[in-house]
Amino acid sequence: MANQEDLLKQIISHAKEYGFVFPSSEIYDGLSAVYDYGPLGAELKNHLKSYWWKSMVQMHENVVGLDTAIFMHPTTWKASGHTDAFNDPLIDNKDSKKRYRADVLIEEWVNKIQAKIDKEVAKAENRFGESFDKEQFLATNPRVLANKEKIDEAENRFKNAMDNEDLADVRQLIIDLDIADPVSGSKNWTDVRQFNLMFSTEIGATAEGATTVYLRPETAQGIFVNFLNVQKTTRMKIPFGIAQIGKAFRNEIIARQFIFRMREFEQMEMQFFVRPGEEMKWYEFWKTERLKWHERIGIAKENYRFHDHLKLAHYANAAADIEFNFPFGFKELEGIHSRTDFDLKQHEEHSGKKLQYFDPEINKNYVPFVVETSIGLDRLFLAVLSSSFKNEELEDGSSRVVLKLPAFLAPYKAAVLPLTKKDGLPEKARQIMTSLKAKFNIQYDEKDSIGKRYRRQDAIGTPFSITVDHDSLNDNTVTIRDRDSLEQTRVKIADLVTIIQEKTEAPL
Ligand code: ATP
Repeated sequence: MANQEDLLKQIISHAKEYGFVFPSSEIYDGLSAVYDYGPLGAELKNHLKSYWWKSMVQMHENVVGLDTAIFMHPTTWKASGHTDAFNDPLIDNKDSKKRYRADVLIEEWVNKIQAKIDKEVAKAENRFGESFDKEQFLATNPRVLANKEKIDEAENRFKNAMDNEDLADVRQLIIDLDIADPVSGSKNWTDVRQFNLMFSTEIGATAEGATTVYLRPETAQGIFVNFLNVQKTTRMKIPFGIAQIGKAFRNEIIARQFIFRMREFEQMEMQFFVRPGEEMKWYEFWKTERLKWHERIGIAKENYRFHDHLKLAHYANAAADIEFNFPFGFKELEGIHSRTDFDLKQHEEHSGKKLQYFDPEINKNYVPFVVETSIGLDRLFLAVLSSSFKNEELEDGSSRVVLKLPAFLAPYKAAVLPLTKKDGLPEKARQIMTSLKAKFNIQYDEKDSIGKRYRRQDAIGTPFSITVDHDSLNDNTVTIRDRDSLEQTRVKIADLVTIIQEKTEAPL
């Protein structure tokens, strides 16, 4: 774990040094859990957004986009349940004075027990080799079964306590599981309290006339309240989806993991409206579709896994996370939720307006059911950044830090580098730059030795470096260096656009 913590620190400092992510208002020592994206971070973030948007909206004829306001009528949040129920159970350690989410402490305990099971499986796998039957082992090994039972018991008790709002039992569970403060080792816990995560502010000119409004804690409600506007204006037929990218705000209790958990972040959400009774089919469809999407990005498949929710949110009848192997372990990257007709029905009730659809195929009016896919853009950014970050030893004994970003996401697609600063090479290089820059984001660099310049491009993840040398002046060819294989190939300048285009196309 120490190594992993070290890795996260290296990533954070690399992200800052090269202009990917800065702490917010850093000259004032930053603002906890708020971050700014630098010039390269903004590029990477835009590529991620555009990849998601194109995959969801452009590639699905029955999904359309939307861009709604951050402020919404306050009744929205009453209807959605956020005013009353968007809480996290928090607990303090009396000795360390550190604050934790009770559900996270329990989840981490479960992960520890699960790790014991995984270790047992790995040991047996080693022992039995090819003949190992994992299913059977999991179903019969007494130690595995005992640990599984412990997990089930703890999870069920937690779920029941939360459902019954029995916060005293949540505390008792933490004590019974012998959970210690990860920082101090102390088991001296306060009571568990509920804490609402919405930020509020006031709208209106005078104190008397002011209304309390909230910064939206999710983008989804902007989609729900516009359901009929969109359906009518686009003449969409069910099943269809509405996608949106936008900021969301949550007053998170703990915010210690860089851009994984922020107080201001960006969500990419899609609400898919379906006929009642068909939601499980679409829930499975979107689970599969979304995992395939992640796998197309080009990060190794072992980094993703599904986690089915036991404790369902107040609006859901099924929910799963796609978890990613972050530097601090597997954590939620995206949620896929079957939200039933909860939100639309609530909005009908609170607004007094009908939010129904006439289905011509079955000749019926109904409130559609909803399957949602919801991913945090910043978490996706961290997943891509952390899995691309490599410290590499090279064959010649030297080492390099390289960001092996999928080429279509790289801030710069190529760098144009004149071998020397004289003999007309910079002019030739500039001509090449001019011929490419309308199509791709290209960096020009003539400072320092060519080796140093390659390293700089490696560190920011530029997939291709184009070197202009003396031969280029005579035969109009250049060398392309591949960031990952380090291979150098001689190509015609006239072919550069096609070559870069092919290698940096998004995998839609
Ligand atoms: P967690 O359990 O980690 O708090 P959540 O289950 O509350 O997350 P959702 O409400 O399902 O998260 O939000 C959908 C997505 O939004 C999450 O999968 C995550 O990628 C992103 N997200 C949620 N909260 C944050 C945050 N504080 N900072 C960054 N991204 C977030």
